[in-house]
Amino acid sequence: MNKTIELVLMPEEASDELIIKDYCARQFAVSLDSITSFQILKRSIDARSRQVKIRLLVEIYINETPPEVIFSKEQYNDVSDKQPVLIIGAGPAGLFAALRLIELGLKPIIIERGKDVRQRRRDLALINKEHVINPNSNYCFGEGGAGTYSDGKLYTRSTKRGDVHRILNILVAHGASRDILIDAHPHIGTNKLPAVVIDIRETILKAGGEIHFNTLLTDFIIQDNSIRGIKVRNINPDSSSQEYSIEGNAVILATGHSAADVYELLNNKNILIYPKPFALGIRIEHPQALIDSIQYHCEKRSMYLPAASYNFAHQIESLDYKSRPASVYSFCMCPGGIIAPCATATGEIVVNGWSPSKRNNPFANSGIVVSVDEGDFKEYKINGALMGLKYRQEIEQKAFLAGGSNLKAPAQRMMDFIGNKFSSTLPETSYIPGVQSIQIKEVLPRPIINSLRIALKEFGNKMKGYATNEAVVVAVESRTSSPVRIPRDKETLEHPQIKGLYPCAEGAGYAGGIISAAIDGERCAERISNGNYQKSLEWRKGASLI
Ligand SMILES: Cc1cc2nc3c(=O)[nH]c(=O)nc-3n(C[C@H](O)[C@H](O)[C@H](O)COP(=O)(O)OP(=O)(O)OC[C@H]3O[C@@H](n4cnc5c(N)ncnc54)[C@H](O)[C@@H]3O)c2cc1C
Repeated sequence: MNKTIELVLMPEEASDELIIKDYCARQFAVSLDSITSFQILKRSIDARSRQVKIRLLVEIYINETPPEVIFSKEQYNDVSDKQPVLIIGAGPAGLFAALRLIELGLKPIIIERGKDVRQRRRDLALINKEHVINPNSNYCFGEGGAGTYSDGKLYTRSTKRGDVHRILNILVAHGASRDILIDAHPHIGTNKLPAVVIDIRETILKAGGEIHFNTLLTDFIIQDNSIRGIKVRNINPDSSSQEYSIEGNAVILATGHSAADVYELLNNKNILIYPKPFALGIRIEHPQALIDSIQYHCEKRSMYLPAASYNFAHQIESLDYKSRPASVYSFCMCPGGIIAPCATATGEIVVNGWSPSKRNNPFANSGIVVSVDEGDFKEYKINGALMGLKYRQEIEQKAFLAGGSNLKAPAQRMMDFIGNKFSSTLPETSYIPGVQSIQIKEVLPRPIINSLRIALKEFGNKMKGYATNEAVVVAVESRTSSPVRIPRDKETLEHPQIKGLYPCAEGAGYAGGIISAAIDGERCAERISNGNYQKSLEWRKGASLI
């Protein structure tokens, strides 16, 4: 017999399995020995009152063995001689598309401009130590995509719980902690994500899929409005740069929102794309101890509680300089984290954040971003569908120049930013390339600055102690979602003009975050498998040199 129960426990009790079991036994009036197994289904922190509690949803088995429900890797059969599907990008979308294709009996061939996770790490060290950006291997490009060196937060606004659970289970099957299946706000952590990504790679290769690192998509081969293949360039620094074509009648385009060259390629080929609203602003960093003390109503966080987080949203209804409302919200909050240099080209500053699995760094950082749309980038209309991209690029380049052209990020103390004052000193930050005291208003457009000031004051009212000069505002947080939409048919998921081209996930404007990108990758794989592709395809094996 199995039963579920909700327990509300003190943090130290919730971390002790014997105590949880004891509570369950007493609640159901059974002996401790008769509980053969118990499983926590959900875990969340309730910090609404002064005494912080942990809420657990527990399933217990009384005199019975629970079924093993973890996703198994056994369904990844050999697809080496099956019909190939080209996937551009080895981010969460590309990798999960590949796994799903294998399940469905198709052979994935992944093309990835960046390096595998181990080699990529060296380029991250170069960014932090030498302030040099490799345009093909950085915090956004390389195996695992932008998600590899992230906080690995796995929450999503997606309401399709079944899909979310499936992705979480596949991650667990590839080495992620089972905790992600139960935590209300699961996360993996930068130190643990690379091993999961490597394990996924091994599953793909073992099943006969292919992954080509250091390989840049340079063109699409299109005939009669149908995809016939792609052109790629080998950019491995150890071998001569070589361009060749790979044939294929289905291409999943999962290149993320930082691949400006892909948007330019589509635009130059007159393949329909649109400008898309997105959001930009700053990353704010507080001492983690301050956020802990505010959120947990204490002097010092209990060792049984995780680093505290927060989540804000504020709607600005109307302002005299702006005729439309703006949303300002916290984005990708990283408790116990680090502000990461996420530029993908020389001459730009982009910040984002990551945390290790223990979230044990002394800083709490979060993006605070303002929604922007065509009204904000109308001056860039001459760039057509790329207007939002050009607006974003100019702001990132301005930040680079303002920081001193050496990857130092423009920064200002929080209250100085709100009060329009230059900061004569800056607090210590986690951003390793360093920060430069600048009035952030020199970098971001005035409507963004005004919206941020209003919202930050409001956040300070909501969370007493949050508005402080101990916090530092760092510019710019500009890669929240894609500034371009690549359209696709709602049913087939193919581009409306080009049969066989599947715009996918974040770069195309259909996902935001690791989980939703993975879900979208799976959806594209399923459409390819369900469509006429398998039945009618005439395909030839392998890649042919031009
Ligand atoms: C520092 C950081 C922290 C983050 N933290 C979180 C978090 O905690 N939780 C969360 O849900 N999300 C987080 N994100 C966002 C998340 O990583 C993305 O939403 C997600 O990775 C998008 O997946 P994707 O597969 O659509 O694209 P991407 O992950 O961007 O992958 C695209 C891939 O395509 C490759 N590519 C691009 N152009 C080409 C080309 N021309 N040829 C070949 N390959 C190409 C790139 O190299 C890249 O590997 C974070 C992002 C960053 C940068």
